[in-house]
Amino acid sequence: MLDKLKQAELHVHVGGCLSAQDLADIAADFYREIDWQPFIENYQCVFSQVADPIAWFDAAVLNENLNPLEQGYYVTDKDSGDFARFQARFDLLIYIARHLRQKLGHQGPMLDRIFARHRNEGLRYVEYRAMSAIADTYEKFKAFHSEYATACMQASDQQMTVRYIVSLPRDNAVLSYRWLRQLLDELPQLRTVIVGIDFCFWEEGYPPKSMTAFFDQLHADNAMNPAQALDVVYHVGESFFDKSLESAIRWCHEAAMLGAKRLGHAIALGMDPQVAIRRCDDAHVSEPVSERLDQIAYDLKHARAMHAFGINVDVDALIAERNDLARLSPQSNLRRRYDANRLAEIRLRQRFLLDCLTALGTVIETCPTSNLRIGGVPSPADHPVHRFLESDVNLLIAADDPGIFNVTLVDEVDWVAQHSQMDQTQLAKRLGDPMRFALRALE
Ligand SMILES: [Zn+2]
Repeated sequence: MLDKLKQAELHVHVGGCLSAQDLADIAADFYREIDWQPFIENYQCVFSQVADPIAWFDAAVLNENLNPLEQGYYVTDKDSGDFARFQARFDLLIYIARHLRQKLGHQGPMLDRIFARHRNEGLRYVEYRAMSAIADTYEKFKAFHSEYATACMQASDQQMTVRYIVSLPRDNAVLSYRWLRQLLDELPQLRTVIVGIDFCFWEEGYPPKSMTAFFDQLHADNAMNPAQALDVVYHVGESFFDKSLESAIRWCHEAAMLGAKRLGHAIALGMDPQVAIRRCDDAHVSEPVSERLDQIAYDLKHARAMHAFGINVDVDALIAERNDLARLSPQSNLRRRYDANRLAEIRLRQRFLLDCLTALGTVIETCPTSNLRIGGVPSPADHPVHRFLESDVNLLIAADDPGIFNVTLVDEVDWVAQHSQMDQTQLAKRLGDPMRFALRALE
């Protein structure tokens, strides 16, 4: 019944696909050569625990005891909601991947393991995405992404189609996008396998509007050359403690209006606001004045459409507030507390937004385990997927980083089936075939 959902993986990061066993096997010959000191210092800082990666690998490689490595590496429910903890663990594989590249000049063994695992799991279609943290020149960018894309192309066969999405850094979107186009000009054989662009990693501090120049350029290029058009998938509404819930919701809309085809996570649209603000002291109470001003402009612009959802925008009050705020520095901090009325209105905003996304055709990629372990969703009952399922929004289920979470796409789909009110038939009908959301139709 749910087979189609379990065969198409549309949101997965290459690095996050590696299991503890994969790391042990890959690094068996060289884990002692790695300078672990920066990893250990960061781990100490984040967990207040001493990490000993060499001892973890010794146990795994010499004694076939994976436990220490699993405990050091796997992100579990105990890490809930803390991206720094996720990153501190993820760094383990980054150190190994880097060393592998230095040693071999490529990362073939790592990629081969991932493809083999997913083929064994019965996946029929995968869109992998990856970002290079070290690609500060075109040559490095090209070397990194052309290797991954070529590996994806070569891994494609009758059983499993493999595509590649290039994750670009949010703080260097325009330049790195030009690099991507240059790469595709120089290596035209990769045009079929590279199907899109992703923005991931820290979203806080990078409002979608800061991507306007990038999207303008992309749309112009796509219009000029539709045969080589690239689509955008965009992580947003996943981590948003730096702002109000209204702003977090607005960011999702802004990303969709800029032209992102699929939104990664969008937790802000489906987790109840009461739950969101209880996650820590003063959660979502403050934000920069600039965000509030953007919100006021947004509310004024969408007042009529929001009214249809029961959201009453007090135009005069907003204009007066805007005039007051204009006297403050845009970076200064603004605190606004939540009461029952505001929370009720935020629920209406979420419904409004899901309706807007439905009209736009934007897809939400929901990643159950990821949201529970790094997205700050406190419990299965609070998971945004429930509201998403109730709405008509285009929705797909994905695993995000199945290796470091020690889960599979099958687990993720089964999790939704187990925790949602729908039975398998209803769920299959509601979600349909996720392949219709693949970034480029298969030939
Ligand atoms: Zn992701």
